[in-house]
Amino acid sequence: MRLSRHFIPVMKESPADAQIVSHKLMLRAGLIRQTAAGIYAWLPLGYRVLRKIEQIVREEQDRAGAVELLMPTIQSADLWRQSGRYDDYGAEMLRIKDRHEREILFGPTAEEVITAIFRDSAKSYRDLPRTLYNIQWKFRDEVRPRFGVMRGREFLMKDAYSFDMDEAGARHSYNRMFVAYLNTYARMGLRAIPMQADTGPIGGDLSHEFIVLAPTGESEVFYHSNWEKPAELSAVDFDDVDGLQKIVSGYTADYAATDEKRDEAAEAAIGADLRQSRGVEVGHIFYFGTKYSAPMGLKVQGPDGGEVIPHMGSYGIGVSRLMGAIIEASHDDNGIIWPEAVAPYKVGIINMRADDAKCTAAADDLYAKLNAAGVEVLYDDRDERGGAKFATMDLIGLPWQVVIGPKGLERGVVELKNRKSGEKVELAIEDALARLTA
Ligand code: ATP
Ligand code: MG
Repeated sequence: MRLSRHFIPVMKESPADAQIVSHKLMLRAGLIRQTAAGIYAWLPLGYRVLRKIEQIVREEQDRAGAVELLMPTIQSADLWRQSGRYDDYGAEMLRIKDRHEREILFGPTAEEVITAIFRDSAKSYRDLPRTLYNIQWKFRDEVRPRFGVMRGREFLMKDAYSFDMDEAGARHSYNRMFVAYLNTYARMGLRAIPMQADTGPIGGDLSHEFIVLAPTGESEVFYHSNWEKPAELSAVDFDDVDGLQKIVSGYTADYAATDEKRDEAAEAAIGADLRQSRGVEVGHIFYFGTKYSAPMGLKVQGPDGGEVIPHMGSYGIGVSRLMGAIIEASHDDNGIIWPEAVAPYKVGIINMRADDAKCTAAADDLYAKLNAAGVEVLYDDRDERGGAKFATMDLIGLPWQVVIGPKGLERGVVELKNRKSGEKVELAIEDALARLTA
């Protein structure tokens, strides 16, 4: 895409109302714009990143055996009365009346909807186990929306729901998601620490929050220094019940707890290896047994003909919040440093002299060849000062920059810069092309 035809409204100064670095950079780099308190429009660059994050989440859910569907954003109050949660949920729920005075709501989560859908079609033990998920907008009327997309009112969530015959089955489903989550975050360059957590209004007795360390995070956390190693992908067989349990037990062996779940004895035992920090909650998983299936009348016929009430769990990932978390973890004074997996484009071409025929011919040619090779490329073809182009490119944080200027071209070279390391090399245009398409 040519920058001259793009819509990337960057800002020089940090907006006064943005307090944390990710919020500032998202506004400055033209990723989002606020349209009402806690409600954001996703501008073209931000939307590209959002879709990449979403796609990684999707691939890892699929790999773990979950099946995607799409539920509506608007739900009926009646469903929530069936579970008994309509009155309990409180002011975070946006309650609406339609023209017939029927009560509806903008879904803050979807346990009721999915339980009703599954109830209406699952008949026997053969229909289980299943894990269903969707990636859909949620609305929660947060008391204090803040930090941009970190705590919005409208936000994108991946929510999955598992249905099993018994508690042992449900634990296996839980373990699938546990490992899928760690792989999801690792692919985005994030180390997320699973921490024992409170279950809140979702309910249940087994729960982990996945927390990315960041000094600006809202949660106070305590953990063993072993967690400070970089995240790795685990190649696992998700159907291997014992193998998966071993992996989960391995991860949970090292102490990690939020403020609410601190364990003095465990911390004393760790001694000097105990670390304290702040963090951003990027996911939360729950096992809650028959909390929704029992009151909502979900039951199936067991292998012996008797009735079984399925055990359920639910599993959320803050897809839009993740963008903030990634930026908190990966930026410098000049702007965002996108991990390649979620970058809006892989390469930025800077034409230093749009008024110079040779520079423009070389830049146009490289742009065409990268496009033809399927490399995602943003081409700064504007008639602007080089300094302004460098600043914009650093701000929006593409992993690679190719700088094409008249002096270099005379010697037959362009400059290739790695945004993360800052390393610059001069090389022939064909060699730059070869590197970027390798
Ligand atoms: P929090 O404690 O941050 O309010 P929660 O426990 O209410 O989170 P869940 O109901 O478990 O959140 O939702 C699943 C995930 O959705 C969270 O882990 C978080 O990443 C994300 N999320 C929750 N609320 C918001 C919000 N207001 N804005 C953006 N993302 C959110
Ligand atoms: Mg909340």
